[in-house]
Amino acid sequence: MPISLPPDLIVSVSGFRGRVGESVTPELVAGLAAAYGAFLRAEGDGDHVVVGRDSRTSGPMLVRAAVSGLLSVGCRVTELGIVPTPTLMLAVRDTGAAGGLGVTASHNPAEWNALKFAAKGGTFLPPGRMTRFQTLVRERDPARAAWNEIGGTTREASWVHRHLERILDLPFVDPERIRGQRIRVALDCVNGAGGVIMPELLDRLGCEVHGMGLEPDGRFPRDPEPTAANLNALGDLVAATGAGIGLAVDPDADRLSLVDERGRPLGEDLTLALAADVVLGRRRGDVVTNLSTSRVLDDVAAKHGCRVMRAPVGEINVVVRMIEEGAVVGGEGNGGVILPALHHTRDAAAGAALLLQYLAEEPGVPLSDRIARLPSYRIVKEKASFPRDRLDDAYAALARDLPADDSDRNDGLRLEWPAESSWLHVRPSGTEPVVRLIAEARDGAAARALVDTARRTLRTVAAT
Ligand code: MG
Repeated sequence: MPISLPPDLIVSVSGFRGRVGESVTPELVAGLAAAYGAFLRAEGDGDHVVVGRDSRTSGPMLVRAAVSGLLSVGCRVTELGIVPTPTLMLAVRDTGAAGGLGVTASHNPAEWNALKFAAKGGTFLPPGRMTRFQTLVRERDPARAAWNEIGGTTREASWVHRHLERILDLPFVDPERIRGQRIRVALDCVNGAGGVIMPELLDRLGCEVHGMGLEPDGRFPRDPEPTAANLNALGDLVAATGAGIGLAVDPDADRLSLVDERGRPLGEDLTLALAADVVLGRRRGDVVTNLSTSRVLDDVAAKHGCRVMRAPVGEINVVVRMIEEGAVVGGEGNGGVILPALHHTRDAAAGAALLLQYLAEEPGVPLSDRIARLPSYRIVKEKASFPRDRLDDAYAALARDLPADDSDRNDGLRLEWPAESSWLHVRPSGTEPVVRLIAEARDGAAARALVDTARRTLRTVAAT
């Protein structure tokens, strides 16, 4: 019998997630892992699967379930233990594995857990393959291996070290120069998987580290999403230690947020913009991001004479476009930096190395002064409930009520007014029956006015 998915399990293009002990159980994870192993074998990718996890207390339990499921369908498993998701992706790519499973709920609170599905080559499953996999999960019980076909497991503890070496070897990072400045850094890993790589990386770059949440024990002392609102304690640590920068990562260390030397959280959009500045300064080329990322990235790219292209929201969509375009840097405005010279996935540790390089390039100039040179924008992000079957009517009405110079329909509707440096993006949420409304403009009032107008239009459409 196929697995029965609990009704409160959240199923989306990025996988399956829920609360541990409620929708997420060892039985569910073993079933999903067995289905994934069978799927990879059926697609001809091979039978070797790499498994890693973040630091959650449910991790050891769920990893054992995932490994059991994989072995039951004849897969061979390499276990990495606690690793950042980008480390897992690097291991999948460099071992030539058929795929990988990350037991992590990323930025969700400690009581959640989930599986991230890596494909051969070390990227996430593209949407078409994910849909095929989810259909298989619902319709078919995977064929189990006979006693003499059950594979084995090995443990590999070296991947964090290898990942770190690859970051230090990047052509955009000059470790000698960074080391020479002995940068004082406040670091918050929220007791997630970042604790296994970030302190050592900063140490190798000669930084003086003042850390909090460095114990990867899964007991997150705060909401673990590295949004500005959650970084007040890190801001205090920056102020108390006189650090030149504060760095925060999410529990699986693929997103990086910054705090300036005054202790002020900068918002995640600047992470990618500053990282891209370093990369493009050494290697000009195309930049890819998603439709909801700040224009500040366009300003940085324009300074280097480079283009920015936009893909639908979701890491895999950005990655697919980056591969198509041969982009030199890309990512998402939520603090996700993707550096193809290393691999095609969001990587907080690589982002941190680029940010330290950014500081090292103008010694003694405070981060806030560097940022003050960039145009300043305000983003407003909200959501509104709206019936999914009326979305096309909503987009038509929005285009009528807010006549724009440019519009993009690749992911909901994005309207742009380049002369005013403003845009509005309206898209259905992948996980909730709501639409997201995101607007950016030179000042908060203008961004707010765009969101308010869109909200009124949506209300009118829903009422007719
Ligand atoms: Mg994450």
